[in-house]
Amino acid sequence: MTTIYRAKRILTMNPGGPEATHVAVREGRILGAGRLEELSGWGEYRLDERFADKVLMPGLVEGHSHLFEGSVWAYVYVGYHERMDPDGRVWPGATSIEAVVARLREAAQLLADPAQPVVGWGLDPIYFGAARVSRADLDRVSTERPVGVMHASFHILNVNSKALERGGLLRKGVEHPGVPLGNDGLPTGELKGPDAMMPVAPHVGFDRELLAADPRGLELFARLAVRTGVTTATDLASLLPQNAVDMMLRVTAQPDYPLRVVSLLRLMNQTPQALVERALALRALSADRLRLGALKIVADGSIQGFSARLRWPGYYNGAPNGLWYTPPEAMRAVYTRALQEGVLVHTHTNGDEATELVLDCMQDALQARPVRDHRFTLQHCQLADAAQFRRMKALGMCVNLFPNHHFYWGDQHYAMTVGPERAERMNACATALATGVPLAIHSDAPVTPLSPLFTAWCAVNRRTASGRVLGEHERIGVEDALRTITLGAAVTLRLDHEIGSIECGKRADFAVLEDDPLEAGPENLKDVRVWGTVQDGRVFEAAAL
Ligand SMILES: [Zn+2]
Repeated sequence: MTTIYRAKRILTMNPGGPEATHVAVREGRILGAGRLEELSGWGEYRLDERFADKVLMPGLVEGHSHLFEGSVWAYVYVGYHERMDPDGRVWPGATSIEAVVARLREAAQLLADPAQPVVGWGLDPIYFGAARVSRADLDRVSTERPVGVMHASFHILNVNSKALERGGLLRKGVEHPGVPLGNDGLPTGELKGPDAMMPVAPHVGFDRELLAADPRGLELFARLAVRTGVTTATDLASLLPQNAVDMMLRVTAQPDYPLRVVSLLRLMNQTPQALVERALALRALSADRLRLGALKIVADGSIQGFSARLRWPGYYNGAPNGLWYTPPEAMRAVYTRALQEGVLVHTHTNGDEATELVLDCMQDALQARPVRDHRFTLQHCQLADAAQFRRMKALGMCVNLFPNHHFYWGDQHYAMTVGPERAERMNACATALATGVPLAIHSDAPVTPLSPLFTAWCAVNRRTASGRVLGEHERIGVEDALRTITLGAAVTLRLDHEIGSIECGKRADFAVLEDDPLEAGPENLKDVRVWGTVQDGRVFEAAAL
């Protein structure tokens, strides 16, 4: 049976016909977009008028997020900026250590089981000036229960005395670079990096299983997706143990699961050969709504955490250079093998030294294995300069930039981390487009909120939280931004033949909008209201979730 939807306006991203009023859907796929007279030629149909006053776009594609965004809502949000939860409730920001403590204390009072930990997430002390959160602050929440607060970056965990005690760290003589000590010789309660967190994290709810995705988290993530117009989203770095894969296959196959998930396997202690073999085995398990078989490598850390690798002259405030997460030999070996087997690899680089290393490794790998159209993608790649974009183009690479940073940390990048000039060039979307490097943009949810229209707004306006325009010349137009959050992201995932535009033969995936993003004005793009989505021809209304 064919359904023809009438809409106020349909933005197709199909260069052959960028706008339409009607779209015909059969068996979850698009028969065509155009005028009703044109589409009626396909034979018998049912005319559906429910979107007559709505604007349709291709279903939005989030090219760098983590399913963990769904799981963390089981805990208390204590971030600095307001944020919408999967039920659509907007939580105000917690703008001081006092406010963080108060919110956690409130949550503690609601817990029935006296042994249950109090867990928060989204903390970002960079907004609190010189003040650091200590175990004494969190002891004010509770001295009986373990209390843990994960930072917005997910690289640092703050805990109270009880949690340190449970993890065996409330003692003198702890010697670990990720465990700072106070004047009393005891840990301050700040745990930096996965290694330092490990003994304590399970006592405050952050265990391995949760990090590999849980069924409830998958469902909550999908709700957020419907509320933000997303029909395909990545889970960009998972260890994908077999039990998690089985669970994800089961949950995403439910007939009303509204999202296509693309989950990438992360390099972590495997040999390059074993890693690529596992990717091939995962690819064979792929299902319609769970795409497997691509790889993720992390080259360095984060810029605001001063763990990204920067080229000369390094950090603006003189902080020492960051950390390498993957040795170049491993990177080169994975690239070479993956090119040979046709496995897609995405690589996280934040600092420009890390980007340069990846480009060098890629050049070596392509020399050994010349392959065209590999779509290997640099993720974040925030500090790349014009010369590096030219190399990406020459090597056939794609890039997925992180414009949300301008809003959340742009003021800090300007003043502290990389300084004015490099802060202005960060996430150089205009240079990427001008150089012809296939471009996507992302949220890295839960690091920043899942919402491609907000990400598009960031790329178009480049406003910081204080209102400064950071990098006027790297702003892109609304139409380009809308293309990057649909077709652009699809290209980096090798899914552009299936999704990313509204045209004959593709999946019937639509973002259904109350407002027209081309009419709203560039400064209002983030406020365009989302009614819901259509995914594979199935209709999901956000208000009915
Ligand atoms: Zn990420």
